[in-house]
Amino acid sequence: MVLSLICPTKDPIPWVAAIQAIAPDIELRVWPDDGAKDDITFALVWAQPQGIFAQYPHVQVIASMGAGVDNLLQDTSIPEQAAVVRMVDPRLVSQMGDYVLAAVFNHGRQFPRYGHQQRQRQWQPLPPTHLGQITVGVMGLGQIGQSVAQRLVQAGFQVVGWSRRAKSMAQVQVFAGQPQLPDFLSASEILVCLLPLTAETENILNAETLTQLPLGAYVINVARGQHLVEADLLALLDSNHLAGACLDVMRQEPLPQEHPFWSHPKILITPHIASLTDPVSVAPQIVENYRRYTAGRPLLNQVDRRQGY
Ligand code: NAP
Repeated sequence: MVLSLICPTKDPIPWVAAIQAIAPDIELRVWPDDGAKDDITFALVWAQPQGIFAQYPHVQVIASMGAGVDNLLQDTSIPEQAAVVRMVDPRLVSQMGDYVLAAVFNHGRQFPRYGHQQRQRQWQPLPPTHLGQITVGVMGLGQIGQSVAQRLVQAGFQVVGWSRRAKSMAQVQVFAGQPQLPDFLSASEILVCLLPLTAETENILNAETLTQLPLGAYVINVARGQHLVEADLLALLDSNHLAGACLDVMRQEPLPQEHPFWSHPKILITPHIASLTDPVSVAPQIVENYRRYTAGRPLLNQVDRRQGY
């Protein structure tokens, strides 16, 4: 019964400290120096080397260190019997709400245009925007998307949402599935992507879908870079169909130095920081799942491996 942390791109020390502080009895090891792989039954992972689970014949639970599991589920070495769980954390959810509100207000109050005018030493009021008349569309109404939609409602925006299955939400008009995607898109003056990355959602922000947004729409992608066809976004910004984009995630991270997004006047880039998992905040759910697994009880936040999220 040993838990191994396999996270080559993250510092494992705060994670080890957070878990040990509340569960000193759990034996923790850190890849690659995690000793006999046969001992490992629980793995806590992020950006693991693909194929690595072939070395762990007894792993029963694989926990993603973040909310997304797209990279993890691509790994064909995950044993058939292993359960995959992910982090569902109020702090992660509220950070994302802060980011999306900041991006929506930044665009809605025309800060990028005033920034441009400032650099030209131009004192020029623009026609005011009435935020209550702006409709924000939230793509993906899961743990994060639903909360973001509610915060947008509280902030006074008109809000529409889109998910795979129909659902009802107070003050949010919800569209569901492919047949209702065009109606959702044509209502979304600001589009926020909060979908998981799956075979169905890869490249979903493309020329065909983005041209269905109203003229002058704004795109915020905080989900995964692979949702967006980059060339299609650039063409629609340059043709003025879209007013701008705020992108926290890229197809290739870090964004390559020569990439056109860096210098595009209508694109705002942040380096995948919209919402970061805090080890202290999520350690209790990791420990809870470890205890549940050892006691044979159902796990929290289990991912449907076939569905992909
Ligand atoms: P979630 O709880 O799994 O919710 C996913 C939502 O997407 C659900 O509403 C689901 O519909 C919908 N969906 C899935 N496939 C769909 C499809 N084919 N068509 C229409 N709707 C579909 O996910 P979450 O926890 O909210 O997280 C969303 C994503 O945020 C993560 O996967 C991750 O990529 C991203 N994220 C980014 C950061 C960052 O810092 N940038 C941080 C955390 C998370 P149903 O409700 O009908 O199932």
